[in-house]
Amino acid sequence: MARAINFSAGPAALPEPVLKQAAEEMLDWHGSGMSVMEMSHRGSEFISIYEEAIALLRELLAVPDNYKILFMQGGALAENALIPMNLLGPTAKADYVITGSWSKKSYKEAQRYGSINLAADAAQDGKYRGIPPVAQWKLTPDAGYVHVCTNETIDGVEFFFTPDTGKVPLVADISSHFMSRPMDIINYGAVYGGAQKNIGPAGLTIVIVREDLLGRAHPLTPTAFDFKTVAESDSMYNTPPTYAIYIAGLVFKWMKAQGGLAGIEQRNIEKAKLLYDTIDASGFYSNTVDKDARSRMNVPFFLKDEALNADFLKGAKERGMVQLRGHRSVGGMRASIYNAMPIEGVRALVEYMRDFEKAHA
Ligand SMILES: *Cc1c(COP(=O)(O)O)cnc(C)c1O
Repeated sequence: MARAINFSAGPAALPEPVLKQAAEEMLDWHGSGMSVMEMSHRGSEFISIYEEAIALLRELLAVPDNYKILFMQGGALAENALIPMNLLGPTAKADYVITGSWSKKSYKEAQRYGSINLAADAAQDGKYRGIPPVAQWKLTPDAGYVHVCTNETIDGVEFFFTPDTGKVPLVADISSHFMSRPMDIINYGAVYGGAQKNIGPAGLTIVIVREDLLGRAHPLTPTAFDFKTVAESDSMYNTPPTYAIYIAGLVFKWMKAQGGLAGIEQRNIEKAKLLYDTIDASGFYSNTVDKDARSRMNVPFFLKDEALNADFLKGAKERGMVQLRGHRSVGGMRASIYNAMPIEGVRALVEYMRDFEKAHA
């Protein structure tokens, strides 16, 4: 069996040892005689799976005690509504910063729920290449929160600093670089993301929220999506995505074995450097993002001659490399190199890129 070298932006590649263990445990989890999929979410077996996953996540990401970890559903796009519903608070005001396609979507959705201020918009000719200096953000002093997307999956723009928003809580969509490196959760009021980029299967959405921000949900917030309800019921107000939580737990164990997030970050730095260096050293490929905001997870790049795009993808496929087509809104190519992408996969890609350049330059 040949596994693809999978550069998908999400759902994305998972660590092979995790898939193997899940396969082994598929019919009989730890002598229970059942698949995890078949277990009651309230039974002691699943509760132990849930508790271990939460504990590992808290340990790996160093989540402080005064933050709740919520396992939800609906993806980051549902959170685009649930964040304002839960966190706008009494002023019903919030600031949004647009640095790419995903934060733009968040901004648009939030407008349905309150008075939403566009604090900064990085678009230049409809393209996103960096992060406007925080000093230029037009922030609202009595906003409920400031929203950012700290890794723009489509545009390849990543924050490598934490914006200082004073007393106003910072809220971040971290979907596509969740657990790709250590982060100081304490600088955020809340962070959220879908699991399917770096953590596990689609269907699990993780929210990490500071306790003092709970209990201010709009009265029309669905009970199952009220952060306070979810927190108080240990994410079991209704049936959580049990199998996705189980796989996420296996991924967390794998992360720990990789040296935790510090070890993972080192490998991610190495992988991204190899790819960006190859792009920059060539006259054939380009990436247009500011160097200090280039995503380590999602690397969009363009061929000098766009007419060669189809050939490039075809040749890549012949070498077992798939899902390199750029997002339709950006064009070109995009290599998503999440935690589970080994350095060998990136080496295979850059070798192919050099060969393709030689053949077509
Ligand atoms: C993938 C992604 C989303 C969308 O997530 P869904 O699970 O499809 O709702 C939102 N934001 C970012 C940054 C993403 O990478």
